[in-house]
Amino acid sequence: ASVTGGTARTPLRDLRATVRDAGGRQRTLRLACLPILTPEGGIDRFRGAVTDITDEVEAKARAEFLSLHDPLTGLPNRLMFAERLAEVVAVARVEARSSAALYLDLDKFKEVNDTLGHPIGDRLLCDVTARLRALVRSTDMAARLGGDEFAILLSGCGGVDEAEAFCRRALAAIAEPFDLEGQAVHVNASIGVAVLPADADEADLAMRCADLALYQAKSEGRGTFRFYAPAMNSELQRRRDTERELRRALEAQELELHFQPKCRADTAELAGFEALVRWRHPERGLVMPGGFIDVAERTGLILPIGEWVLEEACMAAARWPGYPVSVNLSPVQLRSPRLITTVRRALDRSGLEPSRLELEITESFLVHDLEGARGVLLEMKALGIRLAMDDFGTGYSSLSYLQSLPFDRIKIDRSFVARLGGATKAEAIVRAIVTLAHGLGIATTAEGVEDADQLRFLREIGCDELQGYLFGRAVEADAIDATISTAQERVSAGSSRPVPFAMPADPALAAG
Ligand code: C2E
Ligand code: CA
Ligand code: CA
Repeated sequence: ASVTGGTARTPLRDLRATVRDAGGRQRTLRLACLPILTPEGGIDRFRGAVTDITDEVEAKARAEFLSLHDPLTGLPNRLMFAERLAEVVAVARVEARSSAALYLDLDKFKEVNDTLGHPIGDRLLCDVTARLRALVRSTDMAARLGGDEFAILLSGCGGVDEAEAFCRRALAAIAEPFDLEGQAVHVNASIGVAVLPADADEADLAMRCADLALYQAKSEGRGTFRFYAPAMNSELQRRRDTERELRRALEAQELELHFQPKCRADTAELAGFEALVRWRHPERGLVMPGGFIDVAERTGLILPIGEWVLEEACMAAARWPGYPVSVNLSPVQLRSPRLITTVRRALDRSGLEPSRLELEITESFLVHDLEGARGVLLEMKALGIRLAMDDFGTGYSSLSYLQSLPFDRIKIDRSFVARLGGATKAEAIVRAIVTLAHGLGIATTAEGVEDADQLRFLREIGCDELQGYLFGRAVEADAIDATISTAQERVSAGSSRPVPFAMPADPALAAG
């Protein structure tokens, strides 16, 4: 430490010196002293005190480290990442050098945490950290933003190509199994990339872009990466608008439930209805579920909507003599602990016999947690409800589910029905599905039947029920009320022939 330069008689305070102690450890000393002058006015010597402030200094450094790092992995935290990103963005703007900000998110972290416990979850995060650290250069930064979210800053990278190569390496590194206390655990990651300064010339914006790209990567499938594209912004805007509007719509009771007939394949008699939700939007008119169900699922709004649909469907069906009604359940509802209570209440309030309620479930619900799914399905079966597997053939390994889960019906996806009659294998597939289902004692419904050729084929192979525009589109409950009373009048008027539902004039519909 330098002590020269102090003016005569001015006390010197807060001087610092670092020394090594006998053990070789670095220590920090604080000196405060007063110069003692010679009679001529020069400095003779100093008198003062030396304090060892090593602990204080280390504590301060530690606090600084903690405020900028994640305690579990030791990686820089969100704050430090944001600071560094701001620097890199500023440099990128001036020097026209590309950098990239990546958001990385583990696909199955919650499952690991829930099934194997938090200590193992923490281990996984540390192991992921080690693999990321091995990939980044000293000029790059890997940070943990929280939970299973990481961020990586590739500064001065060669742009898109280099960022893409990095994504591939990172995804491959994480896809390698992790050894967590003797168990081989497989996880995947998704990555969203913002290129700087092309996508964003400001740190906040860069983080938003990377986040949007990550959101896109995750929704497109697991274990993949996406670069930010401006269209993502408008897509997100649309989702936000829809969410806000949908909350309002629920309050304002703008949702409506429509019902589409299902008919027996052999006689074309009415066999029941599927309830399909619609949104009577004050400006946009009638909005189909494709325009809002995904937003409702992502925001949890599907829970109140789904409750309303169940109640409304059961009430309507209770008015109609004997016909079953089917209701679509979202995977989000199926994972909700409230589901069974909701279903039971809808049955109680309407007085509908449980056997007349059929719940349609898509395969996507089954793939994530087969055992959990089986539990929920068995509980519902215990209430006396019927279960249908919806959109059959569009998911994965469907056949194995049929054997082990209590389904009463499968609905053959309309994409197969649409391809019937062409030069495709659709006919063989549909025939195989019907045969297989019957072998297992499960009924079949074909969706999306639009013409007489499809009807003829499906009848011939023994499909049980048909649904599609050929028989009728979804209509309001009032219209169903009217149709049913006409049909009943005809039956009570003594007509011996079964009453085809929708298009009695079409000869194709007559049995034969
Ligand atoms: P889904 O369960 O496969 O429902 C059948 C869809 O096919 C309906 O579309 C229906 O209008 C349409 N469709 C029926 N017959 C034909 C036909 O002959 N040709 C063609 N091309 N299409 C036909 P919609 O009403 O737009 O419903 C779309 C999806 O929205 C449904 O697919 C279902 O997954 C979901 N959804 C509808 N209502 C609800 C609901 O209350 N809750 C939940 N969670 N999802 C619902
Ligand atoms: Ca359905
Ligand atoms: Ca379907």
